[in-house]
Amino acid sequence: MSRKFNFSAGPAALPEAVLDRIRDDLPEYGDIGSSVMEISHRGKVFGEIAARAESDLRELLSIPDDYRVLFLQGGATAQFALIPMNLLRDGELADYVVTGHWGKKARAEAARAGRINLAADTVESGYTGLPPVGDWRLTENAGYLHFTPNETIAGVEFPSEPEGVAAPLVADMSSNILSRPLDVLRYGLIYAGAQKNIGPAGLCVLIIHDDLLARCREDLPSVFSYRAQAERGSMLNTPNTFAWYVAGLVFQWVKEQGGVEAMGERNRRKADLLYGAIDDSDFYANPVALEARSRMNVPFTLADPSLDPLFLEEAERAGLLALKGHRSVGGMRASIYNAMPEEGVKALVAFMSDFERRHG
Ligand SMILES: *Cc1c(COP(=O)(O)O)cnc(C)c1O
Repeated sequence: MSRKFNFSAGPAALPEAVLDRIRDDLPEYGDIGSSVMEISHRGKVFGEIAARAESDLRELLSIPDDYRVLFLQGGATAQFALIPMNLLRDGELADYVVTGHWGKKARAEAARAGRINLAADTVESGYTGLPPVGDWRLTENAGYLHFTPNETIAGVEFPSEPEGVAAPLVADMSSNILSRPLDVLRYGLIYAGAQKNIGPAGLCVLIIHDDLLARCREDLPSVFSYRAQAERGSMLNTPNTFAWYVAGLVFQWVKEQGGVEAMGERNRRKADLLYGAIDDSDFYANPVALEARSRMNVPFTLADPSLDPLFLEEAERAGLLALKGHRSVGGMRASIYNAMPEEGVKALVAFMSDFERRHG
């Protein structure tokens, strides 16, 4: 077996230790005679797996007791619609700040389910920066403000929470949850599709404050209702048990690495190394404003785009996978989530320098 360095934006690489553990747990988990995929979600064994995953996540992110943690299906995209459906009361408006592709999608889906105000949008700059909070056109008494702390495609990340917003903050953290310390208290609702920093696709972790939950509408079909899901411990119907179990293994792995503080330091070093290599060269470029650069997704272009296919082909031969940029941006993108070791980024930087020497 030869695992390569996988820079996929999502579904993304999982820590090798987690994959080893999954393999060890197949076809039999412990001594129960079955695998995790083949047991009741209402039984004792899965109940313990589920509870441990939640308590480890609570510990990692210091989630206070007055927040509920839900393990839902339908990815982050389902939440784009379910958030306004659950949170907006009659006549209420939500503010949306769009700094990239995912925020734009979140807003478009929300507009089908509720009344939305576009408070800020950086589309005209090609999503290469962050709009100053002072310029946001905020609605008085907005039901919530939605933003995307890390835009996975443009590689744009908020360095910290926006200050001075009165409405509860609702954040799509699909591509940067667990990548650094997080002040959960600043948020009303946090959600994250699992396939970047948590586990397999098909699971969405949602963290919601009790006050916001208490305001949620009750007249929704029950699987779409946050209140109904919270009351039933996310087991209103059969949850994605396998993904929940793997997420639990990833949470244990993050704890073993030293938690989100250690992850944050490691991710900072990885990003500095890669951006440093890009900035030191005239051959590679990244268009994002310095203070808005993502530590998770690093898009970069080659001075001569006709070399793109050769770059990708040689990178793959060097064991560096999935570096092709999103079709809307072009060029390359290196996603360096928690599971990407520092050696992977070092190998990429060495390859880039060698490629530049030969073709630059
Ligand atoms: C990947 C991603 C999504 C989409 O998640 P799905 O699980 O495919 O619905 C949404 N938001 C962000 C920030 C993402 O990175």
